[in-house]
Amino acid sequence: MGILEVKDVGKRFGGLQALGDVNLSVQENSCHAIIGPNGAGKSTLLNCLIGKLIPDTGSVLFDGQSVLGRTPYEICQMGISRVFQTPEIFGDLSVLENMMIPIFAKRDGAFELNAFSSVFAQRDVLEQAEHMLAEMNLADKRHMHAAAMSRGDKRRLEIAMCLSQNPRLLLLDEPTAGMARADTNNTIDLLKQIKDERDITIAIIEHDMHVVFSLADRITVLAQGRPLVEDTPDKIKGHPKVREAYLGE
Ligand code: ADP
Ligand code: MG
Repeated sequence: MGILEVKDVGKRFGGLQALGDVNLSVQENSCHAIIGPNGAGKSTLLNCLIGKLIPDTGSVLFDGQSVLGRTPYEICQMGISRVFQTPEIFGDLSVLENMMIPIFAKRDGAFELNAFSSVFAQRDVLEQAEHMLAEMNLADKRHMHAAAMSRGDKRRLEIAMCLSQNPRLLLLDEPTAGMARADTNNTIDLLKQIKDERDITIAIIEHDMHVVFSLADRITVLAQGRPLVEDTPDKIKGHPKVREAYLGE
């Protein structure tokens, strides 16, 4: 059984069956890519995994527990963290301030409205944020406005913000969309490093085949809301159905 088990998931938007009978099993500590043409249902599927959408049918189990009906906050607490298509950082804040936000949020329960404790909390959060930025090679940019960073570094910061939650599963929706090649390669290296050095499972939706084939252990191809085929990158590359549906050959 995988760390993430998607069974018979269906989602309809009015007359459109965006997802139908999606089955997917993501193995722990692997990188599983979901590819498919525009409108295939990839983002809808991801939104069903993180509580942004509730599927009409089927089940989603993370580590044996159902995520359906839980809020995005609860799902994050369970160990699922996600990176969206467009970077979600606060451009007016510094890199360091951005990094402090999820760390504050995570310890929210322990917050006390008392001057002493909040100063100590702040120091502790600051230390953790500095530490994470150093690990992510962003230390020298910590006082920069986040908006002024390159796309690749914005992505790096966003991924660092996710990692501060200690997720077991990191979900990424087209993390290299709109990036120049150098930033894309930078993001590939970062994800490889995360895969090798941390106990994290990665599920990635990606359009760029260079990214997919650099990272994925398994690939699921979605077409018109349904899984067309699931296999290793080598098998997917030569699969006639995939070439036809996805590569347009
Ligand atoms: P992908 O991420 O693979 O490009 P999406 O999951 O975004 O595809 O979309 C799948 C289909 O569902 C598309 O036809 C899209 O227009 C439709 N869709 C997505 N979200 C909504 C929504 N909130 N309301 C209505 N239709 C939607
Ligand atoms: Mg999408």
